[in-house]
Amino acid sequence: MRALIISDIHANLPALEAVLAAAPEYDVVWNLGDIVGYGANPDEVVDLAKKLGGMVVRGNHDRARSGNIKPDEYLNLNRDARCSVDWTQEILTKGNAKWLSRLPRGPVRPLGHKVACVHGSPCGEDEYVFFREDARAAFRASRARIIFCGHTHWQVGWSLNGRELTPLKPEFQSSEGLDQFELPLRSENRYVLNPGSVGQPRDGDWRAAFAVYDDTHSVVTWYRVPYTLLMAQTWILRAGLPEFLADRLRMGR
Ligand code: ZN
Repeated sequence: MRALIISDIHANLPALEAVLAAAPEYDVVWNLGDIVGYGANPDEVVDLAKKLGGMVVRGNHDRARSGNIKPDEYLNLNRDARCSVDWTQEILTKGNAKWLSRLPRGPVRPLGHKVACVHGSPCGEDEYVFFREDARAAFRASRARIIFCGHTHWQVGWSLNGRELTPLKPEFQSSEGLDQFELPLRSENRYVLNPGSVGQPRDGDWRAAFAVYDDTHSVVTWYRVPYTLLMAQTWILRAGLPEFLADRLRMGR
């Protein structure tokens, strides 16, 4: 069984299309949320996510866009994020807003106790797994052997063997083309793994990120794929969204 794992698409249609074109054969899609927000193609991306099916958990932006956000949570967003919340809420079709509002809160377990999928962390759907302590807390909060999470927009991971925690990071051959990095999973280890962000990477690499989990061979492969950045940026500017949201795509920050 092979699962295509995508997260943080953020309404970036060219990036999602590039990911789907580059992905090897897979049996199912596991979508870790934040389908909309920041980017200029929320409806097209939601339509595509619906078509892909599989397992989808909600992200904080999906909640915000479908009106499912607390007032103080909204006020805590930065100016650009708030602007894109308002814009997306206005443009999204009723049907798509409803679909987003019904997405389950993670963790969801698509393979029994083996795998948990969540947007942020098993500690909380909006918690971030950036650092060692966050990873340790994530392992403590879940019994799953492999935890897939998004939210940070960093393509990274950790393995745990006993009390020994090891950070993991893909090593790619290039910084421009399609690239992949295989991580064989050891049966004695547990893992927290982030596929990276499809539509707004923040780990210094502008290329769209995703991962494939091969359950049969116990391997996770991290991928980066270039996409038509200019198209995504043009649509953001044409929609009247903040210029920074277009600039940051090029920087991968
Ligand atoms: Zn996100």
